[in-house]
Amino acid sequence: MSADCVFCKIINRELDADIVYEDEKAVAFKDINPAAPVHILVVPRKHIPTLLDLEEEDQPLIGHLHSVANDIARAFKIDNKGFRIVINCGADAGQIVFHLHLHLLGGRPLLQTIAKGRGV
Ligand code: 5GP
Ligand code: ZN
Repeated sequence: MSADCVFCKIINRELDADIVYEDEKAVAFKDINPAAPVHILVVPRKHIPTLLDLEEEDQPLIGHLHSVANDIARAFKIDNKGFRIVINCGADAGQIVFHLHLHLLGGRPLLQTIAKGRGV
């Protein structure tokens, strides 16, 4: 838990969010500014600022987050047509919330770019 982290506040129910899934290790909620018809953020309960802060012990957690994203993709019926997972790391990637998160994007054809933002 980091006191001034917006995602920790969502996890702790201090801030409202449209939570679509949670378990003992992960929480998933709709992005407040969606870039696609389905835009869900999958976050670990553990406060990890960026990919670069991952420790050896976090490896199973990363696998779990991907498994959760797959389950949500199926639940939102974007598994058939496809979807994209994005993790931004640091300033040049446009990371604005420094609590590790997977973007799950789908529900429309996504441009063939690795860029983030409205063109995702
Ligand atoms: P980043 O650029 O850090 O990878 O993405 C952060 C994402 O979090 C953005 O897509 C942004 O719209 C979303 N976001 C930021 N603040 C909030 C919030 O308070 N609630 C929700 N649901 N999403 C947020
Ligand atoms: Zn946090």
